[in-house]
Amino acid sequence: MKTIKDFNFKNKKALIRVDFNVPLNEKLEVTDATRIEAAKPTIIKILEDGGSCILMSHLGRPKNRENEFSLKHIVETASEILGVKVKFVSDCIGDEVTRAVSELKPGEILLLENLRYHGEEEKGDLAFSEKLAKLGDIYVNDAFGTAHRAHASTTIVAKFFPEHKCFGYLLASEIENVNKVLRDSEAPVTAIIGGAKVSSKITIIENILDKVDHLIIGGGMAFTFVKAQGGSIGNSLVEDDKQPLALEILTKAKQKNVQVHLPIDSTIADAFSNEANIEMCDIYSIPDGWMGLDAGPRTQELFSDVIKKSKTILFNGPVGVFEIPNFAIGTIAVCQAIAEATANGAFSLVGGGDSVAAVMQFHYGDKVSYVSTGGGAMLEMLEGKTLPGIAAIME
Ligand code: AMP
Repeated sequence: MKTIKDFNFKNKKALIRVDFNVPLNEKLEVTDATRIEAAKPTIIKILEDGGSCILMSHLGRPKNRENEFSLKHIVETASEILGVKVKFVSDCIGDEVTRAVSELKPGEILLLENLRYHGEEEKGDLAFSEKLAKLGDIYVNDAFGTAHRAHASTTIVAKFFPEHKCFGYLLASEIENVNKVLRDSEAPVTAIIGGAKVSSKITIIENILDKVDHLIIGGGMAFTFVKAQGGSIGNSLVEDDKQPLALEILTKAKQKNVQVHLPIDSTIADAFSNEANIEMCDIYSIPDGWMGLDAGPRTQELFSDVIKKSKTILFNGPVGVFEIPNFAIGTIAVCQAIAEATANGAFSLVGGGDSVAAVMQFHYGDKVSYVSTGGGAMLEMLEGKTLPGIAAIME
């Protein structure tokens, strides 16, 4: 795996795919610069080597070069964070860009305009990719959030740098951290899979059954398993057509010696609201008119015990409706158990789906080993898929 550590960028122009797809408010100001911060180590290493950086990114989903999707709105924030005045050019290919690139000196940064102003970007157009490729000497991909897309700047452009392409620090660390769960894990390995639906998590579950010792199933998706085993789940979320699949997963897990932990009780409510009436209930006997919206106290204890005994932990999906305070308690208990296990030497990865939002909201971001930056990309890695943006660098 080639990373930027393998190159000296002295007098080289690095063409870097970053993920500067940051949120902007109505005044077009950056409201969360995490993604710019995340690309900083890569950019600084190149500048310190004596190279220059040509940054390319997308922003939102423009249809017709709308001003609100221009990357010019982030130049000021990027300059502050990177500590260098970032130059900007109002397109990503063409004469103006070629000129700006030829004038770029070591130590300088040039940000190109939104790649998605050109439809060829998302189509993965070869000619467009070649035009981008001509701008730099070495191609660096540091955009994990788009590594699952075979777009021009994330994948196709790499063809034009057979020997001179590599991962930036951020993308390399995403790959290394997911491999600590999927490849070189220390037992016992526990995956906590929660969230709303079985259908969106089934491929992950199937992929990780060969890699885990314990599988905790929580959140809305647990009710399909409970109902499939004959439980009464009242008005809880369920995917009736996925009941056979749920039973199949339980059988497969048994064959593979994976211990599955389903909730045993639930915090039930008579409405999907923080003002609803609340009761604690056995998960197999939820009355009609009530729905399970969080892991109950006995379940929290059960899940926490398993997590605290683990040496490798994957957290993907909340175990309750954590957005509503009264139903966040189970997810907080899971975060707390992961934090304790991590403090005792376990490796913990949070990624793919709403568990990242939950961990950040409840201030556990610095108490786990790694929080992934790419939702969809991390999901696909956990599903065992080869991401095109990663494959393009490895080839
Ligand atoms: P995901 O994006 O698949 O990780 O799903 C996250 C969503 O699942 C969150 O918005 C949670 O509110 C929701 N969720 C978790 N538990 C439940 C539940 N018991 N009933 C309904 N939705 C739930």
